[in-house]
Amino acid sequence: MTRRAPSPTLQPGDTVGILGGGQLGRMLSLAAASLGLRTHIYCPDEDCPASHVSARFTQAAYDDEKALKDFAAAVDVVTYEFENVPVDAVAVLEAAGATVRPGAMALEKAQDRLVEKQFVRSLGVATADFHGVDDLAALEQGLKEVGRPAILKTRRLGYDGKGQTRLTDPDIDLHASFEKAVAYAWAEVGAAPSILEAFVPFEREISIIGARAADGDIRLYDPIENVHASGILKTSTAPARVAPETRAEAEQATVAILKALDYAGVIGVEFFVLPGGAVVVNEMAPRVHNSGHLTADACAVSQFEQHIRAVAGWPLGDPARHSDAVMENLIGDEVGKWRDIVREANAALHLYGKGEARPGRKMGHVTRLTST
Ligand code: AMP
Repeated sequence: MTRRAPSPTLQPGDTVGILGGGQLGRMLSLAAASLGLRTHIYCPDEDCPASHVSARFTQAAYDDEKALKDFAAAVDVVTYEFENVPVDAVAVLEAAGATVRPGAMALEKAQDRLVEKQFVRSLGVATADFHGVDDLAALEQGLKEVGRPAILKTRRLGYDGKGQTRLTDPDIDLHASFEKAVAYAWAEVGAAPSILEAFVPFEREISIIGARAADGDIRLYDPIENVHASGILKTSTAPARVAPETRAEAEQATVAILKALDYAGVIGVEFFVLPGGAVVVNEMAPRVHNSGHLTADACAVSQFEQHIRAVAGWPLGDPARHSDAVMENLIGDEVGKWRDIVREANAALHLYGKGEARPGRKMGHVTRLTST
């Protein structure tokens, strides 16, 4: 594999273009500003959280070729803050001369849960058993192969537990017949191309936030332990309660993924830890990751700064943790807790500047620090 040339290298005052304008783009922009870099947000939504804290904002659709070309001309490197950026938009930017980091390959692999699992398996890394599902017959066949309970997920555009449904024996009893339960599950995912996964009886969930520089240098943050509720991340804790062998296995998988993608930037890889300590990859996010938010307060160099360093062609920073930390997402109405959190010692509050606190919407987070 050819190694990407370590250029462009940005200078203070240069501009990082970011596709997507949510809270991740906002925190990337704040980190870039600390390094003397500017950011230019490209996002279809008006008044998006990142636009409040960036030097420039283009509000345009991802298929607006003219706007994409103007954006490419206005920035020194392009990155993205969510994995559902259309690959075609990246192709337009690259054709217009922009360097996009991480590249389109990472997007292609991460946008489709089936392609992602096949890619991870091709590296010799374990995943849940899975079966591609394009129609009802394939779903019935898949259930025979992967067994029950199982989870049916849309291949594309699923996140935070959306586009997913479980198939358990009680579900099947509820629907009176196997056929009816299967038809119901298929309707639940909108009869869209999907993947059926065996349910993994995990002991805990962890993630590794890793970074690879444009010159190939790799740094990993300590494993983080995650708790989800209704498919949405609730808390992240460092250090994670994992044996050294489990940590090593998760780290090796992350390094293999970073190298295979010839990656530049920060990646978040989510793992299930099995009762015996073995790990299987659940999914990877080719961007800064919610579980890595605690690095902003528990490490000298946050995942956000690390990502900006990587895409700017700078050396990576030290990912060592100076404090233990628990990050709690403030979801929907929970954002109202800010009034109490601001009175707490050793609690770092981050609010995303979003208007309406809709159910399930990530409005902010708090990271509580204790000494290591
Ligand atoms: P995902 O959107 O794929 O990250 O799924 C969200 C959450 O659902 C995960 O973090 C797990 O808690 C749970 N989950 C997803 N897939 C599986 C699986 N195959 N087995 C067990 N739990 C799962």
